[in-house]
Amino acid sequence: MSIEIRNIAKRFGNFTALDHINLEVKTGELLALLGPSGCGKTTLLRIIAGLEAPDDGQILFHGEDTTEKHVRERNVGFVFQHYALFRHMTVFENVAFGLRVRPKETRPSDAEIKRKVHELLNLVQLDWLADRYPAQLSGGQRQRIALARALAVEPKVLLLDEPFGALDTKVRKELRRWLRRLHDEMHITSVFVTHDQEEALEVADRVVVMNKGKIEQLGSPSDVYDKPATPFVYQFLGDVNLFQSRVHEGWAHVGDARFAAPQGQTDQAVVYVRPHEIDVSREGGAGALSGVISHVRLLGATVRLEVDVAGQDAVEVELTRERYLQGDWKVAETVYLLPREARVYVPSAAEW
Ligand code: ATP
Repeated sequence: MSIEIRNIAKRFGNFTALDHINLEVKTGELLALLGPSGCGKTTLLRIIAGLEAPDDGQILFHGEDTTEKHVRERNVGFVFQHYALFRHMTVFENVAFGLRVRPKETRPSDAEIKRKVHELLNLVQLDWLADRYPAQLSGGQRQRIALARALAVEPKVLLLDEPFGALDTKVRKELRRWLRRLHDEMHITSVFVTHDQEEALEVADRVVVMNKGKIEQLGSPSDVYDKPATPFVYQFLGDVNLFQSRVHEGWAHVGDARFAAPQGQTDQAVVYVRPHEIDVSREGGAGALSGVISHVRLLGATVRLEVDVAGQDAVEVELTRERYLQGDWKVAETVYLLPREARVYVPSAAEW
């Protein structure tokens, strides 16, 4: 089931939550809506679901205009961040619920419900918890049961709103891998809301980066990470150092370093460099920026050096642990920084 989002707009009072969004979710893909809090992700998901009506635009399911259809007619399954499983029902009964409340004509027999629920519990690898109550489950188990419950009615579309948002980092990471494997088996067209860029990059086939009710970029995870279309995407998808630069004869100059500037621009530009795209050395050389180490932070597999460079904000440099140990870098040392990759943007007047 493909989903076409055509020119969707939504206002709350005079606040524009969605500003004419156009987007197609392809059949069987897992699409992530990624963006900061308040950018409109949940509103868009609720409009796809039919829980919220748009002020303008249409939603088409498999080419058919569904904008006016009730949520129950859309055949969607949901999983939310705080999915309230029915507390007084066992895991088995929670998963069976959607089948039991069907009209008599389409309701499966008890034996069929039993078979189906156990099949789903096996799919989410929790069949052994069938007789437990929600209060006796961990947060991660509850979300897997919530997913089994959403899948019970065989939805054509699965909508997930920060489904792992309330869980700790380790469980989150396990569950997103698990969700990806499950999606590879089932191929249900799915839209997944998250504000966590790692989660979007790891789980999704394609990522929509949203900001202030608009789409900044739509692309594969490597597109949005390696070829960010806008400064916003660059900054949202990972840490980045911003260097103020002067443009002269086609080059953006930062101290002794220079970077090719976009053509026909004014005299100022901002150079973006990710912390892991900077080499550090004790010897200067052409194009190196000198600075003084002000902090060393051990993060586990990587180490961050904070380096003060004249005329710039503190520069973050990320080294592998091995590289850090080889170099034996110390606070107050003078070092030279050599960016390997950089991107030069000329901000609009409003962004200065
Ligand atoms: P979060 O990650 O924090 O959930 P989000 O990107 O999902 O953010 P939305 O929940 O879609 O954002 O909200 C978008 C904007 O619309 C927010 O500024 C929010 O305050 C506003 N908004 C959402 N629902 C309503 C409502 N019912 N009434 C008024 N304003 C609303």
